[in-house]
Amino acid sequence: MINGIRLSGMYRGAYLLVNSGMIHESGYAFTELTGYAKSEIHLKNISDVFQVLLGRSFSMCELESKGFVNAFLFTKSHDAIEVTVSYLPEKDSGQKLYTLRRKLNHILDSEKFILDKLLNENNVGVGLFSSPDFRLLKANQRYLDYLDDRYQGTSFLGKCPEEIIREYKGSSLEHQLNSILENGQMLNWNEIRTISGEGIERFWNCSLTPVLEGGKVLYIISVLSDVTDNVLRRKHMEEQNEELTKMIEMKDEYLMLISHELKTPLSVITSSIQALEIICKNELSEKVKKYINKIRQNAYQQLKLVNNILDNTRVDSGYFRLNKTHVDIVQLTKLIIETIMVFAERKGIKLTFSSTIEQAVLETDIELYERILLNLLSNAVKYTPEGKEVNVKIFQTVLNGIENVCIQVKDTGIGIPNDKKDLIFERFGRVDKLFGRYTGSTGIGLYLVKMLVSLMDGEINLESKEGVGSTFSIFFPLRIIKL
Ligand code: ADP
Repeated sequence: MINGIRLSGMYRGAYLLVNSGMIHESGYAFTELTGYAKSEIHLKNISDVFQVLLGRSFSMCELESKGFVNAFLFTKSHDAIEVTVSYLPEKDSGQKLYTLRRKLNHILDSEKFILDKLLNENNVGVGLFSSPDFRLLKANQRYLDYLDDRYQGTSFLGKCPEEIIREYKGSSLEHQLNSILENGQMLNWNEIRTISGEGIERFWNCSLTPVLEGGKVLYIISVLSDVTDNVLRRKHMEEQNEELTKMIEMKDEYLMLISHELKTPLSVITSSIQALEIICKNELSEKVKKYINKIRQNAYQQLKLVNNILDNTRVDSGYFRLNKTHVDIVQLTKLIIETIMVFAERKGIKLTFSSTIEQAVLETDIELYERILLNLLSNAVKYTPEGKEVNVKIFQTVLNGIENVCIQVKDTGIGIPNDKKDLIFERFGRVDKLFGRYTGSTGIGLYLVKMLVSLMDGEINLESKEGVGSTFSIFFPLRIIKL
């Protein structure tokens, strides 16, 4: 017969002798292993003591049915050690003996070097969790501070999530943690926000990495990094961006308003000149005609600039809406050329038009097409010397394997240097910008042309030779349109 008292005298390891659920005796080895003195556990309920030592998830039923259980034990100084708890009932006396044996070569010891190094790392928070119950076995101060800020508890070591987090059961966090055990894959959360007791806001990136052996999760390492500075910097930048966007919107609105205000008197000037020429046709001397011509030229120039600024602002602010209609591009081009014919003739430039196709119906925005062509034509006239020619040609061609209609504006002017061919399509890109000469050019016309052409699904290209001339070609895909 096994006698409890005799047993306790014989057994050298840590043990607890229990009578009617109460601890009656424990050896010196128990105090040595756990840090708890005899007087602290004497006549305490064994289940309560095991809950403190082995955590709430520890199951007495499992121990009593299996006879032994491996578990993590928390010492009085919050040290986690892995132990085997064995159970030995004594039938006759009703006494129960529980022995606690430190597991030899247990995982925490075998990884001690790495764990200690990790835990002593001050820049990151490190926590070590048991599997499968996610008890916090070890953690450095940074990790504990984080938990304190997030969950406002007193002590977290030795506790499972359900003891720390209210409403943990059934939560998405519980599902995520269980998924680590199921698939052995790490979990990451970014920018978790915490507020400390003193009201300090912090942001953390957190990872949970399972450590596996033979496909089984032994324990989980959690690493936290403080990303507060990055998050605050980004937020600050986002705020600044928002402010900047608002300011740009205000500037765009202002520009649009001003441009509209400028456009009205300019239109009045140009139509007044037209009226003057018609009404006083025979009364105007050559000298007056010359001045009227100057006024018209400058008014057109200003009108073009104001229109370009308006369109540019509308494109930038996303206000641009295509107003597409089916239109014969050959006829439309002819009409636009007629409006600029007088302007070219007055400069002594021969403006011609030819088309190899009779009709090309495109789905296009008439106003935008007019804006594109007028920009190219006014440049061609502007940069071509008196007495020379500007030709506009329309023909059908294949581009990238698709039938296209091409509208070509060819001048015999000063040409564009090779190294400036890309620059002139950029916003404010001008050939002689570097020399700081005033040429009456702002460099937004071609930028706008390129934007509008691409808005209309077209392409533009340029061939030019200095001193010989430039050819701007616009291509629009010819789709079969049923009228
Ligand atoms: P802007 O709107 O001020 O007229 P553009 O964007 O239309 O400016 O043109 C940009 C620059 O490209 C001009 O300053 C000029 O140097 C050059 N350029 C444009 N068209 C021609 C051309 N047909 N011949 C020679 N240079 C040209």
